[in-house]
Amino acid sequence: MNKMKSEHKPRSKVMRKLNRKSSIVSILPQDLLLEVTKQIASKSSTPLRDIRVLRATCKSFYRASKEKLVGRSLAVDKEDMLQWWENNAYFALLRDCADCDNLEANFILGVEEIYNLNQGRSGLQHLQRAMDGGHLAAAYFMAILLFRHAATKYDAMNILNRVSTGDLSSTKSVTPCTKSGNPTVNRCRRETIRVIRKSWKKEFEIEPGVPCKHRNCGRDDGDGVIDPWVKDGESPRVFCSHLCRWTYEYHNFFGQI
Ligand SMILES: [Zn+2]
Repeated sequence: MNKMKSEHKPRSKVMRKLNRKSSIVSILPQDLLLEVTKQIASKSSTPLRDIRVLRATCKSFYRASKEKLVGRSLAVDKEDMLQWWENNAYFALLRDCADCDNLEANFILGVEEIYNLNQGRSGLQHLQRAMDGGHLAAAYFMAILLFRHAATKYDAMNILNRVSTGDLSSTKSVTPCTKSGNPTVNRCRRETIRVIRKSWKKEFEIEPGVPCKHRNCGRDDGDGVIDPWVKDGESPRVFCSHLCRWTYEYHNFFGQI
């Protein structure tokens, strides 16, 4: 009995201390708590763990952590190791965050569903959601997929021309891109390939490339050496049209997966 009493006292002290802290938090404006929670979700290197800890501290932070804005801001890319240890938890997190309009979660889910899970329809919807929110890599991958089919090739080129400007929301008309080496396009390609390589890789079969008949198409922009269709992806090349430029990109992408 005495032993139980002596154990009970320190616990009570701790609880009183926690209750005092909780009561301080409870008088802070909910907007402020939401902002703090959002910052942790977006900036932490372990956002999921930190949000869970925060959620357990008091009702006010619990409420804040459930807000859509937190799911929208959560840095899901920092939790990619979960994919290997807790695959179901990782995809549950991605789906929760995607429902909150988290652009990166929609992008990763889109790539996974199309490339890995044979869920093309849902994958395209996730890519579209990310693209509508301005996610450039999602727009890039969507365009690469559309480029495969003759009926959607023109739409694909319009999206890729827009991606090369780095701004999907602009309503200004875009000059068709006829040169490779654009840093935004290169970054989008690398980002998409990075997500694909983390998955269980499945081969994508594509038709072989047919070099353009235009003798200067694909020439190196630096020294003028004519060496068309070299798929190094880094040395800028000049093409006779944006069709040739994006055909080169299409093969460059699949050549690097
Ligand atoms: Zn050409």
